[in-house]
Amino acid sequence: MNAASQRKALVLFSGGQDSTACLAWALERYAQVETIGFDYGQRHRIELDCRLDVLRGLHAQFPAWSPKLGEDHLLDLSLLGQLSDTALTEARAIELQANGLPNTFVPGRNLLFLSFAATLAYRRGASVLVGGMCETDYSGYPDCRDNTLKALQVALSLGLDQPMTIETPLMFLTKAQTWRLSEQLGGTALNDLIIERTHTCYLGQRDQRHAWGYGCGSCPACELRARGHAEFMGLR
Ligand code: ZN
Repeated sequence: MNAASQRKALVLFSGGQDSTACLAWALERYAQVETIGFDYGQRHRIELDCRLDVLRGLHAQFPAWSPKLGEDHLLDLSLLGQLSDTALTEARAIELQANGLPNTFVPGRNLLFLSFAATLAYRRGASVLVGGMCETDYSGYPDCRDNTLKALQVALSLGLDQPMTIETPLMFLTKAQTWRLSEQLGGTALNDLIIERTHTCYLGQRDQRHAWGYGCGSCPACELRARGHAEFMGLR
């Protein structure tokens, strides 16, 4: 076992494609892995249901990972509703704001998520946080950028007085490369699980099954996922 594999990791797990790929990545690397999710008044509770469904699927279908996959934690961050006014938490159309950021943007949301995760990780004896933040497709989100997270890693490690590593395996991957990563980690079985059980659609729709999974097919999240999957299939 190398040093990395003996550490315990806490994965920010939303029940979507990206965080499921990150969870598989962590399960390949670390001796113990726990998951944390945030309930911040999402319009679509379906995301929270999908989280548990994905965890059940990983336990059932991946016997090598199952013993490492420990507790799941769901934090109530409904206070974010007092701070945000966005398409994810209020019933309004998803559109671009004047500053070019999608109005699904909750300013600094990932800084808050990672800070809460770090506190929980400290309590649980974990020294690695794993998140699906990505510069490639979501460059509009400054709290997902590599420099932001490198700075936060330093701040958290100093503030907790112990190393708290932030790992972001998807940071420089395209969506197609994320599909390839999950295939490399868990084969077709993992990609099938991602297609069947994860949730991406901003509109919370799961009645239409596409090659890439369930969703409305036309919101920005569905379009991104569909395009990435089509590119991935074209590369195979
Ligand atoms: Zn959609």
